[in-house]
Amino acid sequence: MITRQVFLWVGFVVAVVLTLLPAVLLDGARAEDATPTPEEYVGHVGGDSQLLQPGEFELDGRRQSCGQRPVVIDNKLDDYGAAYPGFLIMNPRLLDKVSTPVKQWIFAHECGHQFRGPDEETADCFAVQRGRRQGWLLPEGLEEVCNFIAPAKGDSMHFSGSHRCEYMRKCYADPTVR
Ligand SMILES: [Zn+2]
Repeated sequence: MITRQVFLWVGFVVAVVLTLLPAVLLDGARAEDATPTPEEYVGHVGGDSQLLQPGEFELDGRRQSCGQRPVVIDNKLDDYGAAYPGFLIMNPRLLDKVSTPVKQWIFAHECGHQFRGPDEETADCFAVQRGRRQGWLLPEGLEEVCNFIAPAKGDSMHFSGSHRCEYMRKCYADPTVR
């Protein structure tokens, strides 16, 4: 998650799964086996949600890849993007409102959760280092990302936007990939 800064990897998955898949759980599957597949997610959300194969998703005409992870398009998501273990969710309705580097940073942040787990700062760092390496995140773009997350308030669990930004600037400048 980007704006709420809450990556409810376990809680949200379990909550949705309990709603979606009572049959599976009643069959005695363990909760960690019951993460929804992208197909199940699309089936649950319905509407114009859509499942894209790995590498099919584009932002402003640029193909986005996150290893072999598929992308679900969900314009009703309450955030710009999200990640489940195994797939990403992107919300074009909100993504349309931000610049290209910010869009790509959001995708890369959610991709970071795929490879680095639920920690927000680690996902932020993954995203900016990937952007630097791949050439789509210049210092100006990083400033746009900082402005984008600036309004996010910190709480006991999450750093405020300015703290996240400070950390991302360090990661961006750090030649060691984290
Ligand atoms: Zn996140």
